[in-house]
Amino acid sequence: AVRQPTRNLDEPFYTSCQEPAVDAPRENAAIVMLVRNSELEGALKTVHSLERHFNRWFHYPMVFLNDEPFSYDFQRAMNESTSGGARFELIPKEEWSFPEWMDERAATKSIAAQGRAGIMYAGMESYHHMCRFYSGKFYTLEALRDYKWYWRIEPDVDFYCSISYDPFVEMARRDKVYGFTISLIEGADTCPTLFRQISDWKEKHGYRTTELWKAMVSPSWVPWPFRSMMSWFRARDSKGDSWSLCHYWSNFEIADLDFFRGQDYQGLFNHLDRTGGFYYERWGDAAVHSLALGMLLDPEKVHHFEDLGYRHDFFFQCPANAQGGQRWESQVLGSDPTYTSWSPERPGGIGCRCECDGAVTRNMGN
Ligand code: GDP
Ligand code: MN
Repeated sequence: AVRQPTRNLDEPFYTSCQEPAVDAPRENAAIVMLVRNSELEGALKTVHSLERHFNRWFHYPMVFLNDEPFSYDFQRAMNESTSGGARFELIPKEEWSFPEWMDERAATKSIAAQGRAGIMYAGMESYHHMCRFYSGKFYTLEALRDYKWYWRIEPDVDFYCSISYDPFVEMARRDKVYGFTISLIEGADTCPTLFRQISDWKEKHGYRTTELWKAMVSPSWVPWPFRSMMSWFRARDSKGDSWSLCHYWSNFEIADLDFFRGQDYQGLFNHLDRTGGFYYERWGDAAVHSLALGMLLDPEKVHHFEDLGYRHDFFFQCPANAQGGQRWESQVLGSDPTYTSWSPERPGGIGCRCECDGAVTRNMGN
């Protein structure tokens, strides 16, 4: 059932430039990047951009994560580039590998076949480990245990506008759980059974569903193999909800770690992990996060940072272009979030000019 958006569901935190409150209290937060040594150049580009447009006033620490030890050059470059300190963390092997029960030979074969089938990135074993990691294990890392909030960044990102307020403080003040910039459509071939698995978990745990519906759609007298086959083709769950493949693009996220560390989310992740879908299919962490948020949270807990100029790959959001464009309304499981502002209908190209830049730079005597 599609829930109607209420008024003022998600206003921008500020609509004008702020004088950065450099002495105000901070939240317990870290900026986090998973990255390979070989991506140093792109990683520096992101860090420089975020420092210039935000962190030179706010000085949040940056935590770099890697499945291999960081090189001396990487660490030196980041120590020189971060204003709030840098930490370098090695991800434990068990959190970056096949689940122990999995038949690795079968999984490796499946990954090769997915690659031959042309499913995006699906032929790379490391990409599957990355998606599984970011879907669940990331949140329970020892290295992040003492933080309440994270801001995820990636190599090769541009921030175009000055972020002249503290987004962590505003998220906390307004009781938000998850913030995003861009939403996209997932490739259906990466996740043929993801929605069905999530809806199975949902029904098992009684989320927004009724016994009557359950009995009608998946009657218990049908033997299991046939029920399973029926549900494989199920594009809708027993409540009539379906998934449009829309999701929040997860290379940018500002979110509450406690939500993702909590019993509900981790229970869902463990359920998904046990199905093997992170390897026998190529489920992306963005899709997993988005579906979980849609199912477990009220829509007003999700914030669209429409005021941030942001680019990664070919997709960007420019607040100057967004004027008169569609506003994000709500996403609950089964409803369509509208696109944010990457669409080609909005001209302007990648180079977004933001008024904040000039104003803040002037005010900071720079
Ligand atoms: P895309 O955004 O889906 O194209 O995927 P990316 O290649 O950008 O990967 C997402 C994030 O995971 C980026 O921050 C990468 O640096 C990181 N990443 C991907 N694969 C690996 C890996 O094998 N090792 C490490 N350390 N980081 C990885
Ligand atoms: Mn990326």
